[in-house]
Amino acid sequence: MTKSHVLTIIKRLRGEFPDATCGLLHENPWQLLIATILSAQCTDKRVNEVTKKLFAERKSIADFANADLGKLEQEVHSTGFYRNKAANIKKCCILLLKNFDGQVPNTMKKLTSLPGVGRKTANVILGNAFGLNVGIVVDTHVKRISNLLGLTKEKNPVKIERNLMEVIPRTEWILFSHYLILHGRKTCIARRPNCPECLLADLCLYACSINIGRSQL
Ligand code: SF4
Repeated sequence: MTKSHVLTIIKRLRGEFPDATCGLLHENPWQLLIATILSAQCTDKRVNEVTKKLFAERKSIADFANADLGKLEQEVHSTGFYRNKAANIKKCCILLLKNFDGQVPNTMKKLTSLPGVGRKTANVILGNAFGLNVGIVVDTHVKRISNLLGLTKEKNPVKIERNLMEVIPRTEWILFSHYLILHGRKTCIARRPNCPECLLADLCLYACSINIGRSQL
């Protein structure tokens, strides 16, 4: 795929989703960190329902660091994997107070030193809490649609991210994953992509392979 095709994909997605932004509601970096930990294997909608109540009751990092683990587990139960998530949130907040002066750090290395924080979570925080284009968030939508479009052939998120970083202009890294997530919810739905109605059909490797749209590839 040429650079001009990639730029056209971005331009069209920007036109379709001009207000694209992080789907996890938050007012500061530590709230986004907690919401992102909760978002593993869970929808943004469910996480937002849970955090609305959670952040109304627990108003600081210390409130989470000092939380009774059993109670915190109950509070995040409906997001799934609640034992791991509650334990990681509590440990994270203890470490934020102990090692980072109660601030969420803004480097990949420091963020990924926190429990339950991998490269994907760190990219969410760096991009959406700090506006730093350090990497590209590769979630299930980004993984699936990048392959369908022909932007990568990889299945491993770290390798996919590397491929995307080679072809997507750095200034677009944060928004690009928001665009694909929104496109994955609206049109390129898992297991039933609506290719005939897709604004990217002529630029999509998958659609062109099944003869939908006029190929420009
Ligand atoms: S053309 Fe089909 S497979 Fe390609 S991005 Fe659009 S919906 Fe997804």
